Amino acid sequence: MARLKTLPPRLKPAGSRLALAPTPSERRITGRRLQARRMRIWSADPTCRDCNAVTRYPDGFELDHEVALTNGGEDTDENCRVRCIECHKAKTRADLAWAGRSVPRR
Ligand SMILES: [Zn+2]
Repeated sequence: MARLKTLPPRLKPAGSRLALAPTPSERRITGRRLQARRMRIWSADPTCRDCNAVTRYPDGFELDHEVALTNGGEDTDENCRVRCIECHKAKTRADLAWAGRSVPRR
């Protein structure tokens, strides 16, 4: 009876090459620093950048990157804007379309 041989792997593992390029989500600040930024930027101007509605803290707005991270924007205070939930959704759809990605349907 013939023995089955295990074939040598044809693909080499990518190793650390994949770790070199951070994804947009890895470049974002999170946690306390993000909460502090939300408060700082909202306090300076709580109106929605697009529709001028005065937003409610903490859940009536989202901090939006004016130039989306996926489009090469920086995760800095200067690139952050207050947007109401609806305007943020609309802008995210536009940003993704601009980046040539498929747009999530929600
Ligand atoms: Zn708005």
